[in-house]
Amino acid sequence: MGDASVKATFEMLWDCEFCETKGLLAKSQRCCAECGGKQNADKRYFPKEGEEVKIEGHKYEGADRYCPACQNPQGAAGKNCTNCGAPMDGSAVVQGVVTPEVPKPKKSKIWILFVVLGIGAIIGIVLGVRHCNRTKEAGGKVIAHAWERTIGIEQFGDDRQEMWRNEVPRDARMVVCHEAQRSTKAIPTGEKKCKTRKVDNKDGTGRVEEYDCKEVTRSEPVMDDKCKFVVTRWMQVEEKKASGTGMALNDPAGLPAVQYTETLGSKRIGKKHDVHYLQLEVTGADPPKQQCEVSADAWKKHADGATVKVQVLAKNGKVDCDESF
Ligand SMILES: [Zn+2]
Ligand SMILES: [Zn+2]
Repeated sequence: MGDASVKATFEMLWDCEFCETKGLLAKSQRCCAECGGKQNADKRYFPKEGEEVKIEGHKYEGADRYCPACQNPQGAAGKNCTNCGAPMDGSAVVQGVVTPEVPKPKKSKIWILFVVLGIGAIIGIVLGVRHCNRTKEAGGKVIAHAWERTIGIEQFGDDRQEMWRNEVPRDARMVVCHEAQRSTKAIPTGEKKCKTRKVDNKDGTGRVEEYDCKEVTRSEPVMDDKCKFVVTRWMQVEEKKASGTGMALNDPAGLPAVQYTETLGSKRIGKKHDVHYLQLEVTGADPPKQQCEVSADAWKKHADGATVKVQVLAKNGKVDCDESF
């Protein structure tokens, strides 16, 4: 039950079983005010909302017990029954009103179905992919080397960008900012929201408890400056490509000079990217002549005319380049 705090203590009520009197106070009226009939402590009930008789400074001594001789409910502290005088030894505690269980949020079991279906689908896909990707080893020969070289060309120029003020680079020019919402934050209002429940003290009183208290927050926008600015940067403006066969790679034509200046409009060589291909002739592959993209190391390792062992996919006769090199 954890962190529950008592908000108020009030008298439980009971109805006389001998006359028609209803709503008798369970702690201060142990016997019926009309007929003197004794209280049945097992049939105490909580007063309605707003009709509770509050008890200030309530001192809890323990749950009531039944007198073993006359069955009258008695306070926990008493040694002898106030009704018949019998000793209270061996007396039983009153039953009390059961505090309703706090309903736990219902967890839907449907996710299990999704997990099972998901696992099934994954197994199916894995098995299917395996089946389709079965390979067999085949002998082949390297018949040629091919390559492709891509070189980016960069130009020194002005670039317009937009960032939050703290991200603006130091060399930014023509910075113009406006206020904008960057995020939100939760502000505590100092208020707490609790659930309440009624609990039977079993001594003729009940209590209202607060539990499950949560801090109430409100969401507030976090403003910041968003800035537009200009920076002068090297930016890739185009790409040049060259391709060919043989072991010697060439740069594409039309590259800018290696010497360059940082002046507006000047150009320089940017990122370079090479792709290597081995052209193969494989017995049992369909078609027999195929090409594989390979690493630069594998490309250099296998000379023209060298024999190679490769994996061929059963489903379509294609060389499985990843598995072969
Ligand atoms: Zn009565
Ligand atoms: Zn008694």
